[in-house]
Amino acid sequence: MEKISDNVYAETEFRGCNPGFVVTKEGVVMIDTPQMPADAVGWRDEIAKHGTVRYLINTEPHGDHFTGNYFFEGTVVAHEGTRQAIMASAANVEQARERFKQANPELSSILEGFTYRIPTITLSQEMTIYVGDHTFKLTNMPGHTPYQVAVFIPEERVVFTSDNIFYKVQTFLQQAVPFEWLESLNKLQELEADVLVPGHGGICDRSYIPEMRSLIQSWIDAVTKAIEQGLTVEEAQGKITGIDPYAVEGGIEAMAQQLPRINVARLYQVLKK
Ligand SMILES: [Zn+2]
Repeated sequence: MEKISDNVYAETEFRGCNPGFVVTKEGVVMIDTPQMPADAVGWRDEIAKHGTVRYLINTEPHGDHFTGNYFFEGTVVAHEGTRQAIMASAANVEQARERFKQANPELSSILEGFTYRIPTITLSQEMTIYVGDHTFKLTNMPGHTPYQVAVFIPEERVVFTSDNIFYKVQTFLQQAVPFEWLESLNKLQELEADVLVPGHGGICDRSYIPEMRSLIQSWIDAVTKAIEQGLTVEEAQGKITGIDPYAVEGGIEAMAQQLPRINVARLYQVLKK
């Protein structure tokens, strides 16, 4: 766990996303949750030292950000699209429960009741939450998915960017809206934040945003060119390699082969229109 400003903590070493929390005078506000049960239980114990969880904000609709909600209290807040995705996941809750029991057998009894906690407050564009002396400015910033939410805490000059930033680890575009992503990166650049907590990879700052932008632009350019050349999606997948200079993050090395192909398929579908 890293202390990244006076009252903000984040973890970049868990399997899955980078969760964080903010300690206010009136309790704790969490941003995303650890994916693996053992990590979530440890994180819960750590947070308990700082206070009661008041709000739990999920920044996007992927399981590595919301699966751990089960282990925490607090009102769950997310984009409406993320709420829909979490509700859809409920159809597979039994498989998830069994998978987690196998991964963390020592937590079997807690996992017996595993369920997906669904957001009860949603936003579609913007929302501000005031807790203690802290302000949480939530803004929909489409990019990695249409439903990304950036969480900016001006008093701390910190922003949780969601997966619109992958810091020096391979970027997932499986549900991307690429042109909106470029715009959202411009908006992130304008926030008066000294510290960025990316969705994945280490803590960074705004100086990384131009590199992230040029990566997304490179993906757009490569797939646009393939479409202009009349390639099929399979041909484009075979031809487009080496766009992302970084390795996949630890724990999901098995994805390394498949990820660029998944990214090409998504962009092909979006850009073909
Ligand atoms: Zn994601």
